Amino acid sequence: MNSNQCSFCGRKRNEVQMLISGQNGFICENCIEQAHAIVKDSSVKTGFSPAENIEELKKPKEIKGFLDQYVIGQDQAKKQLSIAVYNHYKRLLHAQDENREVELEKSNIIMIGETGTGKTLLAKTIARELNVPFCIVDATILTEAGYVGEDVESILSRLLMVADYDVEKAERGIVFIDEIDKIARKSDNPSITRDVSGEGVQQGLLKLLEGSIVNVPPQGGRKHPDQKYIQVNTQNILFIAGGAFDGIKEIIERRMNKQAIGFSAEKINNTNEDEYVLTNINAIDLRSFGLIPELLGRFPIITYLDKLTKETMVRIMKEPKNSIVNQFIELFKMDGTDLTFTDAAIEKIVEETIEKGLGARGLRGTTEKVLEDYMFSIGEEKEIILTEDNIFVKN
Ligand code: ADP
Repeated sequence: MNSNQCSFCGRKRNEVQMLISGQNGFICENCIEQAHAIVKDSSVKTGFSPAENIEELKKPKEIKGFLDQYVIGQDQAKKQLSIAVYNHYKRLLHAQDENREVELEKSNIIMIGETGTGKTLLAKTIARELNVPFCIVDATILTEAGYVGEDVESILSRLLMVADYDVEKAERGIVFIDEIDKIARKSDNPSITRDVSGEGVQQGLLKLLEGSIVNVPPQGGRKHPDQKYIQVNTQNILFIAGGAFDGIKEIIERRMNKQAIGFSAEKINNTNEDEYVLTNINAIDLRSFGLIPELLGRFPIITYLDKLTKETMVRIMKEPKNSIVNQFIELFKMDGTDLTFTDAAIEKIVEETIEKGLGARGLRGTTEKVLEDYMFSIGEEKEIILTEDNIFVKN
């Protein structure tokens, strides 16, 4: 071994800035950089491909099992999402098969559920499990091309950004379009006046959803007219849309009453009436709500999320892998303090949050408030047991 030169490129010690020694050789800074680039490049290539063959693909039950660790309840949505995602990536494998005779179509998904019931969380968790690029866009910021606001193509700019501008990676990603209900047509009649923020945007979305090659401005805006466009094929991008669809229950009820099939008085009186009605949701209802048929045609899977009950919220506090309770226990542990939440304390926090009407989204905020004084004087006590009585919520 020559201790005076790089074992990789042969440069002499005086030709390089540093030589790092290994067991049987030396490496210079140039070779380290080159090797790093190779490693990075190869990990990018493999890191974002969910599977090379069908055996590697996680089965729907496995996907649901993963979701169960992070998302409480919502079994129906988790099941449907797991199947849809499995089929989606199966489709990707199928598309690589040159002898295929049947073309499998994409199944984008619409999730309906009140705010804070876990729609975004579900989409985000799925993307994490699959290790594919994921972005969230709010449908309300989109406008028809040529109007103030963002063009629909900006959705893909974001996906490109999270994929580090690796187009191939982005083309296998998942896009979550939030508040899709806010771009519903305002009335059932196709409008005579232009509707730039509703129907126009729905029209604009069609070309992304159906799988086409879209010219994407890398920075997302029209403010850089001289920038070059990046071409992105949306064929394999999975779109998951979410929305609260306020008033959808009444629409479903009206339809069901009209059809008068299987909707007896006995069922109406059922305590789970809300849920029963929602299980019947279909594309006709969403159309009545104001989504255009062409758009609905590209979202063949419609699923709903249950309202969060007090019991579910208590479970959300405690059960997920990174539950709020665990996060705060960890935070206090760093200062050598043992923090314990009694069940009564957790229930109280949940009740306070429900009162504020914030859904699960508010749980963290309430807990922060409850622990404010303890966090202020952190380190002074070795042990804190949070009971129902020492919970004091300041507003
Ligand atoms: P949505 O998209 O339906 O409005 P989110 O998914 O953003 O709601 O939920 C807000 C927050 O509430 C999440 O980040 C999570 O902390 C919590 N949360 C909501 N629903 C659930 C659930 N079913 N399981 C676990 N956490 C939940």
